[in-house]
Amino acid sequence: MARGAVSVLTWIGAVGAARLGCTDRWGGTSRPPYDELNLGGHVGDRLDDVEENRRRLAGATGLPADRLLVASQVHGIEVAVVERPWSSLEEAPDADAMVTSVAGLALVVLVADCAPVLLASADPLVVGVAHAGRRGMAAGVVPATLRAMRDLGAEPASLVAHVGPAICGRCYEVPAALQDEVALREPLARSTTRSGTPALDLRAGVVAQLRVAGVASIEVDAACTFEAAQLFSHRRDGVTGRFAGVAWIPEPALT
Ligand SMILES: [Zn+2]
Repeated sequence: MARGAVSVLTWIGAVGAARLGCTDRWGGTSRPPYDELNLGGHVGDRLDDVEENRRRLAGATGLPADRLLVASQVHGIEVAVVERPWSSLEEAPDADAMVTSVAGLALVVLVADCAPVLLASADPLVVGVAHAGRRGMAAGVVPATLRAMRDLGAEPASLVAHVGPAICGRCYEVPAALQDEVALREPLARSTTRSGTPALDLRAGVVAQLRVAGVASIEVDAACTFEAAQLFSHRRDGVTGRFAGVAWIPEPALT
């Protein structure tokens, strides 16, 4: 779905009643170098702007701002099973993935080159998000998220996965030793830059892990953060903002 005047979500997917979405960098109030829709609270941007931007994202999901849940991402494999909103920043769990079967909670992952992995099952209704960067992907944050969703009754075969924009395998140059280290854990993440140097393809690694786990329905957004001006890229810009992947189960309409 294209972004309308009222939505900062540039992409929305439906899996039964569950919803998945992604933002880009436009439609917010942050000033350069965080312009415009920076959703990251830890990157040096004015917190008033981040709060307003998060309100806009919440509005796009149809949920109140306090239902927009952003964990403290630490490049690990911890999965938070979320059952209710938290009331203060201090209560936000240290986790790079979240899952829920509760309606009315918007699970958010923030990225600027790392891959946002969005997951949903229609029956039972379960959603999950994972922040899969180099470290998290290699350590297995995606399989860990799938296990947590299975614990909530959603088998991998019944899941739909959407892998959002990330730095591509032609742009993400890394030292050869680092490439070897990651490829030891996930061989299909090995890639080569346009100039022939060692690289990593985070999304190829994620897709391989989803397939091995039995997820049949996998959709990949091919956009590269490093190449696309409408996306934040930490590798390209250094000090910059974060865009979001989000998954939620809308609250049943009150009739
Ligand atoms: Zn690229």
